[in-house]
Order: sequence, then C-alpha cells, then structure tokens
Amino acid sequence: MTRDRRDLALLHGRIRACTKCVAAGWLERARPIVAGKASDAIAIVGQAPGSVELQTGFPFSGRSGVVIRKWMAEAGLGEDELPYRTAITKCFPGKAANGAGDRRPSPAEIALCVLWLEEELAILRPEVVLLVGQLAIERYWGRVALDEAVGRSRRDGDRVYIPLPHPSGTSRWLNEERNRALLRRALRILACEVERLRVEEKLSERREPSTAARGSRPPRSASRTSARPSSPVRAAPRRSAARTPSRATGT
Ligand code: SF4
Repeated sequence: MTRDRRDLALLHGRIRACTKCVAAGWLERARPIVAGKASDAIAIVGQAPGSVELQTGFPFSGRSGVVIRKWMAEAGLGEDELPYRTAITKCFPGKAANGAGDRRPSPAEIALCVLWLEEELAILRPEVVLLVGQLAIERYWGRVALDEAVGRSRRDGDRVYIPLPHPSGTSRWLNEERNRALLRRALRILACEVERLRVEEKLSERREPSTAARGSRPPRSASRTSARPSSPVRAAPRRSAARTPSRATGT
C-alpha cells in the first residue's frame, strides 16, 4: 500500500468517526459519507449526502446518483471509472424546513466539515474537480449565478475546476433549454479532460508508483502535456456564508 492510500484510508477512518456537528448541536446524528480511491484523478465535490445516501452509506446513490452517472457516461466515464465522491459536508443535514429538498448546511457546519475536504484534496491531488451544485461552486469558484459558471472551466496549477448544476430533481435550473446547453458544454469540457487523462494514462490504475521515494506518487504535473485554454482561477473564497436556500437532494 502506498503512502497516499494509507493516508487516505486513515483519513476516511477519521472522517467516518467524526461527530463534530453533533457535539456542536447542529446534527442529532452523524453519519459521514465519502467514497473513492487515492488513485482517482477526478473528484466530485457535492453539497451533502441525502436521505438515500444515509441508508446506503455511499455518496450519490439516490436519484442524484443516477443522474450524475448518466452525465459521467456522456463524458466518457464508465461505472468502473466513477470519480472520487465527496461533499462540502459529509453528513445528511436533514430536510429543508419548507419540505423542498434537503436543508442546506449552515456556514457553521461547513466551517467544521470543510477541513476534511481540504485534507482529502491534499492527499488526492485530483487533476479535475467537478463542482456539483451551488455550494461547491461558491467555495471553489466564487459566488456567481449557475449560468455564469456552468459551461466554463478554470485551471489552477495542475487542477481544472468544472462547475456542474446539482443533479437533484428538485432543481428547476435544468428546465430551461439554454441551461441544458450549458450543461452539455460542461460535459464536453469534462470529456476533453477525460480523454487527456486517458492519453496520459492517468485515469485508471495510474500513479501507484513502485519507485517513488517514501511510497508517494510523483507530482501530477510531471507528465502533463496538454492544456486546454481556460480562464485563471480566482483565490478560492474560504468558508463563504451560505445565503440562498438550497433544494439539493443527495450530495
Ligand atoms: S458534517 Fe462533517 S464535521 Fe459535521 S459531523 Fe459530519 S463529518 Fe463531522
């Protein structure tokens, strides 16, 4: 087992044992949910698990998961190539007070939980990060309307951020044809990145180094050969407050 796999396994253990939001009075019960491998080159960052994920213990296993798998397939990713799946907060936050979807995690919960996400990304060093839904977009892209982010990408060093709408059926954003066109454009951007990772042999079973010092894989920039033009990434807003209600359901 490489150092990255060990580190990620240890981190997953710490995350799954986390009860910080229960201790702080934000949740009655903690059941942190995360899934993926240290070798994953693509990571999905969603909002929070939903009630189905609470039952199954796997991210994106409800209706949102069906939709996200369809999107991944459109971008050329098979079921056995599903990206690393995590979220801004790792526990089901409960239903929204108005009954429309799940409750959006509060800024205080996000502040408690997002440190886990930062540790995950530090170990994983994904080359592509899919920002699924407004909360993830706000954190890593900025507070903008969905139609100002979806359909675009930004490179930050070796990492490409690609915003996507939340696949929840409670979102009405995709009801408009022009927004569906933005989604198709975003998936084409992802398809280009998937193809690049395939060419660079980074998509599957990659970077399990046998020779790297200390059992750690080499920097991902070492074999980068192409760069699709993309606008520069801004400094990620840290712990931004959540202002607009969310109806997202399931990660
Ligand atoms: S939401 Fe995050 S910080 Fe809160 S209990 Fe779950 S894992 Fe811990």
